[in-house]
Amino acid sequence: MKYFLFLALLPVVLAGQSSELEFVNPKELIPDIVIDLRYSSADHSFLNLPEGDLKLPKFYSANECLLVYDAVLRLKSAQDSLRNIRSFDGREFPQGIGIKIWDGYRPRAVQYLFWEIYPNSTYIANPNSGSRHNRGGAVDLTLIDLASGAELDMPTAFDDFSTTASHSYTNLPEAVLHNRELLRSVMTTVAGFEAYDSEWWHYQTPGSGDLPLRDFQLK
Ligand SMILES: [Zn+2]
Repeated sequence: MKYFLFLALLPVVLAGQSSELEFVNPKELIPDIVIDLRYSSADHSFLNLPEGDLKLPKFYSANECLLVYDAVLRLKSAQDSLRNIRSFDGREFPQGIGIKIWDGYRPRAVQYLFWEIYPNSTYIANPNSGSRHNRGGAVDLTLIDLASGAELDMPTAFDDFSTTASHSYTNLPEAVLHNRELLRSVMTTVAGFEAYDSEWWHYQTPGSGDLPLRDFQLK
């Protein structure tokens, strides 16, 4: 009987393993998550382009987020937890707190472009070894009020490549420190992501450095 049970469960276990590598749009499991892929528009401050240069490039062909299934499951547990918060740090959240994604899977070709413009390995992974984003295992995100869609105040804007973006930077208003800590604690303690010290917005799944590097454009 035990042997039969083992054989019966084996396909489920194997299917579970392979699906962790599959790319999934987080919207499929988390309908109220907000996707705002900044590199699919010119709405990003990245690359230290000269002040006044408004012709910022669009690096992605679509505002479509993809992540490995494991990352999406972890995000779902984070959002499920945040959605239940009705009051935080003296503020009311009638529909709870939610997640807004700024970046997920990033084609490796785009990583080469980033590196060409800003070859600083604190903030941009060398494309020769690849980024967790190129593997679908990293996500850049912030918190929002689900009722209004407004972002919670955080230490910096997305892609602010300065020490102010570091988790160890503390010369900030109390409310900002609390918001950053809420994001960090939910993402690491509830969802099991790893934080990245230099960027408060970046989280990655454990072991995602071993996932295959990918290079396809979003449709
Ligand atoms: Zn990132």
